[in-house]
Amino acid sequence: MRDALNTTLIFMMLLGCDRGFDANAVFPAVISDETDVVIDTDAGPDGTDAPDTASDPPADTDPPGDTASPADTGERIPALVQFDGPTPSNVLMISVDTLRRDALGYYAGEDRDTPTFDRLLADGVSLDRHRSCSNWTYASALCALSGKDNLDMGFVPEAGALLEEQQVSPDTLLISTMLGLRGLRTALVSTNPYIGATYGYDAHYDEIWDGGGELAEGPDVIEQGLKYIEEFQSGSEPWMVHMHFLEPHTPYQPPAEYIEGADTVLGFNLKTPQGVDSAEIAYNSMTTSQQAILQEYAQRMYAAEVRGMDDLLEGLLDTLDASGALDDTLIVLWTDHGEQLWDRGNLTHGKDLHSEEADAVAAFWSKDIIPTHFPLRTAHRDLTPTLLDTLGFSDNRQHIGRALNAEVEGVPIHALRLRSYDTIHSVDMGAWRMLYRWDGTLQVYDLDEDPDELENLVDLTDADQYALWLLMEPEVERAINYYETPSTPQMPAWDVK
Ligand SMILES: [Zn+2]
Repeated sequence: MRDALNTTLIFMMLLGCDRGFDANAVFPAVISDETDVVIDTDAGPDGTDAPDTASDPPADTDPPGDTASPADTGERIPALVQFDGPTPSNVLMISVDTLRRDALGYYAGEDRDTPTFDRLLADGVSLDRHRSCSNWTYASALCALSGKDNLDMGFVPEAGALLEEQQVSPDTLLISTMLGLRGLRTALVSTNPYIGATYGYDAHYDEIWDGGGELAEGPDVIEQGLKYIEEFQSGSEPWMVHMHFLEPHTPYQPPAEYIEGADTVLGFNLKTPQGVDSAEIAYNSMTTSQQAILQEYAQRMYAAEVRGMDDLLEGLLDTLDASGALDDTLIVLWTDHGEQLWDRGNLTHGKDLHSEEADAVAAFWSKDIIPTHFPLRTAHRDLTPTLLDTLGFSDNRQHIGRALNAEVEGVPIHALRLRSYDTIHSVDMGAWRMLYRWDGTLQVYDLDEDPDELENLVDLTDADQYALWLLMEPEVERAINYYETPSTPQMPAWDVK
């Protein structure tokens, strides 16, 4: 384990205010940087360029409970999510599978015809630099629901491994379990098996509807979710209903009225699973112009899915509002991961940890929430502690994630896709993102200068990049333990003088 000074130095270097190892040059700048986070309550996502401040050690070296917390000292730092009135009693969690952040007008900076999503983000508390912990449903959703990264849960789903051996333990605390213990009635409506009874979620919700094993369209999810809400509203206990939507996930099957242009291209049909598979396979042997045509088709079909989802969301909110159920309900909106639309030679997700697949949407909204746009990097593991804190349940110390507020500081944000033949890690810190594959491939990007991650700056002689690697290396070493067949990562050959 690194000593405290080393840890501090590494973080200070990553601030970007000094790119050398000269502690004398770094310390004064860092100390002066240790000011409160300024939360922008007016600006939109453009305000996301503010640099992270950073001085906390990584979460894995600072287990919750080992340090004084506001609970210990009797102080309570106000929660990030504030209301112009009483805190809502009920929670409607809406997770949208495979919703890419830049598919929304709020983030794209141009009209994507997603007015409902955009309204929730603009009028709610949005986490504008939010990142998933992975790029596929099971791994990603567990971080959002547990308040921990997979490695910190002690359970890392392995993509492609035997499914029945990867059940969520009944002993794991998920947000539904925690709210259930605090008197809320809970229900899950999801036909993605990765968030369903197949994987053990039935131990964590009072009620669960998984479509009987069939994938359901959004209107069916809404119908079932509204039934639970109606039932719970007739009782006296507060409730949490979690509705998971599969709309933008492949195959892209938006209702016809949302499709602009041809719904098949070059003989490919992305409305069927077989069509998606054959397009993925064929892409690499196509000419550049054919690839461009196929990519434009995928982008159009995906955008149509998102527009359709936006309308479903509007309908859901209108129905809840008409019934009065929205008056005392906090909406927690998040997406498990994004989607690659041949941005880097692949379709769908689970492929890589660049922004299009692993950045995510997260926001809170209620009728009288105070709009706030949080500028620091946040992670899926922060959602559960932030929700508990918002509801006034302040015992968050079992979490690795943070209950977000105006005083949190920048920390490294990790992501992981564990897969037997191709595991990938990423770490974000300050302006930097490092990605590492176990075959030894290393990529480094300056997200402030190059948000599309086009220029790989990797330099094995660079001291700052080595400091970034030192944040990632312990994650790599921990991940090795989660293979059924131990595998040996090819470590980078650093040559830092
Ligand atoms: Zn998913």
